[in-house]
Amino acid sequence: MSQSTPDNTDTVQAAAPRSVLVTGGNRGIGRAIAEAFIANGDQVAVTTRNGGAPEGALDVRCDITDAAAVEAAFAEIEAAHGPVEVLVANAGITADTLILRMSEDDWSSVIDTNLTGSFRLAKRAAKGMLRLRRGRIIFISSVVGLLGSAGQVNYAASKAGLVGMARSLARELGSRSITTNVVAPGFIETDMTAVLTDDQKSAIKTQVPLGRYGSTAEIASAVTWLASDGAAYVTGAVIPVDGGLGMGH
Ligand code: NDP
Repeated sequence: MSQSTPDNTDTVQAAAPRSVLVTGGNRGIGRAIAEAFIANGDQVAVTTRNGGAPEGALDVRCDITDAAAVEAAFAEIEAAHGPVEVLVANAGITADTLILRMSEDDWSSVIDTNLTGSFRLAKRAAKGMLRLRRGRIIFISSVVGLLGSAGQVNYAASKAGLVGMARSLARELGSRSITTNVVAPGFIETDMTAVLTDDQKSAIKTQVPLGRYGSTAEIASAVTWLASDGAAYVTGAVIPVDGGLGMGH
């Protein structure tokens, strides 16, 4: 509730800026998430392999498949913004093909980036959050992690794994006021889905009750809510933002 001053001007206590890390924040969903936190006045760091963080963010190079690079990125972010209070593990890749054609490398590169990369980030972030006795960890999964998807055995397994990891972390870290949640986007217009043919896109839309793709801003909205004070009692949850495709899973 805002307080009134004697001259009746409303004064709203500004929340202290938080140290926020968004991985994969140079484009697509991650960029929209980073921009939403920047607009909120938070101190945002964006990690990618190729750079190009949005204006106002600390631009940190970090390949999340490299544990030493993750450690170095956290050291750089902590020196600039203090311990990470909000981690959004968003960076992810696909290597789609049917199982008989799926190579060991197709499997391991996707698992190493999407699942093990998120583990490396959460482990390092938890260290600072445990000391702070607060924090928010948000994993970006996918509707296909719960529904399955032909041609995406590796990707769906990596995204389903995030749910088990988040729920385990919710139990491990909850007593220190650290929440761990998952956002499961449906089909969102980004570089990742630009590779689909028009026929594939039309077929997907027929399965979505809302009859359209989602926007990156609609994912950012769920993520910033999970990081807000209003979501302090939400942990271990999977929030679908998919136009109804998964029917709440
Ligand atoms: P994009 O392909 O547009 O962006 C992927 C991001 O991840 C880039 O910023 C990329 O940066 C970064 N990245 C990839 N590999 C690594 C790595 N090894 N180390 C560090 N950064 C990496 O993806 P989207 O924006 O579409 O997707 C974002 C997330 O949302 C992903 O986890 C994806 O699985 C998930 N998702 C997307 C959906 C969609 O419809 N688009 C639907 C459901 C989930 P750089 O290449 O510079 O490293």
